[in-house]
Amino acid sequence: MKAIRVERLGPPDVMQLQEVPAPHPGPGEVRLRVEAVGINFADVLAVAGEYLTRTRVPYTPGMEFAGIVDTVGEGVQGVQPGQRVAALGGSGALAQYATVNAAGLIPVPQRLSAAQAAAFPVSYFTAYHGLKTLGRGQAGEWVLVQAAAGALGTASVQLAKALGLNVVALASTAEKLDIARRLGADVTLLQDDPARVQKVREAAGGTGVPLILEVVGGKRFQESLDMAAHRGRVIVIGNASREQAGLRPVELMKRNLTVTGLWLTSLMGDREATAEAAQALGELVATGRVVPQVGPTYALADSARAFQDLLDRKTTGKVIIEP
Ligand code: NDP
Repeated sequence: MKAIRVERLGPPDVMQLQEVPAPHPGPGEVRLRVEAVGINFADVLAVAGEYLTRTRVPYTPGMEFAGIVDTVGEGVQGVQPGQRVAALGGSGALAQYATVNAAGLIPVPQRLSAAQAAAFPVSYFTAYHGLKTLGRGQAGEWVLVQAAAGALGTASVQLAKALGLNVVALASTAEKLDIARRLGADVTLLQDDPARVQKVREAAGGTGVPLILEVVGGKRFQESLDMAAHRGRVIVIGNASREQAGLRPVELMKRNLTVTGLWLTSLMGDREATAEAAQALGELVATGRVVPQVGPTYALADSARAFQDLLDRKTTGKVIIEP
C-alpha cells in the first residue's frame, strides 16, 4: 500500500510517499481502509520533533481519520467490517490502511461524510473539554476564541454558540473573521488590531472575558491574561506561535485568575469526561447543530504541501488528506 513515511524529523518536506506492507491488526485492534485523514497542528509539530511527546522515526504520521472497517482483530466486540467510523490513534493514518486500538474508534452519525468524520474527533472533543469540562462555561457567558477560523477555532465557535455562550473571535485576516461570523461569533476582531485588548474587554461588557481558549502562546499568552475578567479562566490548549511564554504567578493572584492546561490525549483516558463529551457532541452532530468544517483537501502525495499550508496559516477549517 502507499503510505507517508518520515525517516528524519524536520520541516514538512521530510515526508515521503512510499510503498510499504499494509499493517495487520493485533489483538484488540481494528484495521480500517482509510478514506480521509484530519491534519492537526500537532501532526506538524510531531514531524518537526516539537510535540509534547517524543516522535520516534521512522514513522507514518496521522492520528485522526475516518474509514471503513476492513479487518477486526482478536477480542474486539461490536465492530463490523463495512462500517464507517472515525478513529483517534497515535500515528499511522497517512496511508491506505491503518490499524487502531478499538478503544480509539468513535461512532459517527450517518449524516457525516468521510471528510467531516475525519474533521470531528480532535477538534470537537478538545473544544468541548475547553468550554465545559475544564472551562466550566455557562450559557450567557462570554468566551474568547483565538485562531477562530482554524480547525479547533471553528469547532469552538460553533460549540460555544450551541451551548449558549457569547463568542469574541480573533483571527489574522478579514476572510477568516467572516468564517467565524458565519458560524455565529458575536464579535470578531483582527488579532493584530492595535486596540485588541481594550476592544475584547469592551465586547464582554467592559469587565473582560470570563473564559479564554488560549492556543497561540508566546507574547499572546500575556495578552490573554490582560483580556481576562476578574476570576477569569484561561485554558491553555496550544502554542501555535512556537514561542516561550512567561507566567508571573503573582499576576494571577491580583485578579484571582485560573490558568488550566488541556491536553486531549491525557483527557481521553478519563472515561467519565470522555463519555460526557461524547454524549453531548453526539447529539449536537446528529441534529446538525454543529457541523465539522472541512477545509482544503489534498491527495496523499501532496501531504507535505498540506502540512506546510497549515503551518503558513493558509488554511481554514480542518485540513483533510485523502489517500
Ligand atoms: P488550526 O487549523 O487552528 O491552524 C493553526 C492556526 O493557528 C493558524 O491558522 C493561525 O490562525 C493560528 N496561528 C496563530 N499564530 C500562529 C503562528 N505563529 N504560526 C502558525 N499559526 C498560527 O490548527 P488546529 O486546530 O490543529 O490547532 C489549533 C491550536 O490548538 C494549535 O495550537 C494546536 O496545537 C492546539 N490544539 C491542542 C490540542 C490539545 O489537546 N491541547 C488539541 C487540538 C489542537 P490565524 O491566522 O487566524 O492566527
